[in-house]
Amino acid sequence: MKIVADLHTHTVASVHAYATALEMIHEAARTGLHAFAITDHGESMHGTPHPYYFMNLHAIPRVYEGVRVLKGIEANITDSLGNLDADDSVLSNLDFCIASLHMPTYKDTVSVEACTAAYMQMARNPHINMIAHSGSPYFKYDYETVIKEFAHKGKLIEINNASIKHKPDFVPNCIEIAKLCMKHSCRVSVDTDAHFVTQLGRAQEAIAMLEEINFPEELVVNSSIRNFNKYLSEMNIPLE
Ligand SMILES: [Zn+2]
Ligand SMILES: [Zn+2]
Repeated sequence: MKIVADLHTHTVASVHAYATALEMIHEAARTGLHAFAITDHGESMHGTPHPYYFMNLHAIPRVYEGVRVLKGIEANITDSLGNLDADDSVLSNLDFCIASLHMPTYKDTVSVEACTAAYMQMARNPHINMIAHSGSPYFKYDYETVIKEFAHKGKLIEINNASIKHKPDFVPNCIEIAKLCMKHSCRVSVDTDAHFVTQLGRAQEAIAMLEEINFPEELVVNSSIRNFNKYLSEMNIPLE
């Protein structure tokens, strides 16, 4: 298995990432990546951009140097009601919206019930395409309930390479989540969460984990250009 698109990446706009959008595009072109999404953090994360940044992303062409560049965000879920730190007016202008729970930006009780409630709201939010790195042991949720609902609503669960590569305590959760996605035919996206060019498109650890459990490529929306374009068409995201 391989990935042809990396739907979770950061640029210098996130401040704690170190490559510009153009450097990321160069790297994608150089390594033959078909597409990637620029998904910098929503504004409640320290040092992250003003909403104007997200509203002006159309300044970057959809295809540049032969790479399809999706304009996106990694919005922060701030409470168990599913509130986000980006307005609908910002989200509705983007190609690909990720919602994530992060320790510095989640301002509510941490419990399985609260995290399940927050993610169930993401399943219902028409602007949200995917939840990221949900294998976090800090934000445990009722995997089966949420994954069933995500499958039903056509939302994606991320298999986050950075979690599998760098965070051993995430790995058993990631495997359990992947197995439940398989059981309920919930589609996933395998992404790097790159914070520099050297990480872009390199998801070997996540791919190895999925291959180990015989995860079907058909459920990985970024495993082939055919799967990827099918997903974009379904979401009314322009192919080019
Ligand atoms: Zn994140
Ligand atoms: Zn991220």
